[in-house]
Amino acid sequence: MARLFVSDVHLDAAAPEATAQFLDFLAREAASAEALYILGDLFEAWVGDDESDPEKLRVCAGLRALTDRGVPCFAMHGNRDFLLGPGFTQRSGCRMLPDPVVTRLGTEDVLLTHGDALCTDDHPYQELRTIVRDPVWQRRYLALPLERRELLANEARAGSRAHTSRTVPYIMDVNGEAVERAFRAASVRRMVHGHTHRPAIHSLTVDGLARERLVLGAWYEQGSYLSHADGEFRLHVLPR
Ligand code: MN
Repeated sequence: MARLFVSDVHLDAAAPEATAQFLDFLAREAASAEALYILGDLFEAWVGDDESDPEKLRVCAGLRALTDRGVPCFAMHGNRDFLLGPGFTQRSGCRMLPDPVVTRLGTEDVLLTHGDALCTDDHPYQELRTIVRDPVWQRRYLALPLERRELLANEARAGSRAHTSRTVPYIMDVNGEAVERAFRAASVRRMVHGHTHRPAIHSLTVDGLARERLVLGAWYEQGSYLSHADGEFRLHVLPR
């Protein structure tokens, strides 16, 4: 049995094909898995646990069907859905993981992280990340009416698109030193992350030890997941 990893599914009402494909993935590949790990940005936005987008609620129901079948499902906050709270875990049956977290896979400890914290060259983004991850800021935001929160989330997405379009691509990729620090701090040989939408398995050496950085793909144009079975990782593409 395999453990499956996804991230950056970016689901919302504007992406009905991705939603259908993800629900299909939950009913097929994930249904026979040992566990499913969602490493952030399952949703394009999550404005609070009173989220009313029917597509997102269908995704929660799909996850609930999976967890009810006995497949454990773990979710991590991404930079889009960092407000997933108890309402989400109750609805979906998912258990939240802290970011970063070290987990045992077979005989080896592996570091799991969304990945945005590794993109330290993108200073404006890191400033924004510090603000929105502040519990005081989050309490104030969640106290606003739902429509107001949705409006602000749309504005933030437009701002993010503008920033992405005028920022050089390497700035938005991981920083090599941040990656080395993460390997060192966790004392692991492998890490799995998403966020950069650059699916790949990178081999590198840190402090004289061979390491691997496994990067998950986004679901904008196709499905993408990583499997771990019998000590081996594999990246998979699900054509749409
Ligand atoms: Mn992200």
